[in-house]
Amino acid sequence: MASLKSNGQRVVALTFDDGPHPKNTPKILATLKKHEATATFYMLGSLVNEHPSITKDVFNAGHEIGNHSYSHENLSTLSAKNALKNINKTNAIIKATTGFEPLTVRPPYGARNVKMEKSMHQPIAIWDIDTLDWKTRNGATTFQRIKDSVHSGCIILMHDIQPSSAEELDEILTYLDRKGYSYVTISQLQAN
Ligand code: ZN
Repeated sequence: MASLKSNGQRVVALTFDDGPHPKNTPKILATLKKHEATATFYMLGSLVNEHPSITKDVFNAGHEIGNHSYSHENLSTLSAKNALKNINKTNAIIKATTGFEPLTVRPPYGARNVKMEKSMHQPIAIWDIDTLDWKTRNGATTFQRIKDSVHSGCIILMHDIQPSSAEELDEILTYLDRKGYSYVTISQLQAN
């Protein structure tokens, strides 16, 4: 997978934030499986605690799990020490659930705490295309934003807590498949 981009193939990294969610995350997993697509899920430590079996399902299906803080705190407003505590706590919860530490961290709102990042061992991953699915709650709009901006190597942000995105995903992947895109996780993309 990591060599796809250098072979001139088009790749895209799908990311789903703010879960896991008991209904939408399994629906997204089923659609990803149908399209043989891998994705990265930026999970909240608090919700991993609530839904450990869904978290395991995501991991066991071959997707990547990222750290999205404990309960969606704005890390830029915390001290470096408290922000790091928040990230480490979430790392520990995810590791206790899946056996593996998340490979990357995505700060909520993209609000970075640069001081904290100096003492953090995981890379940060933001995004290129913000579908704003949380705001529009409209699958067709999410799909249109992706169509307008997709390019090889881009990171697409959606939310697995949004039913509209879970419903639209089949259409989105059918389109991306047809355009010749392959799917990579964030760490695969970063390794390129
Ligand atoms: Zn978020």
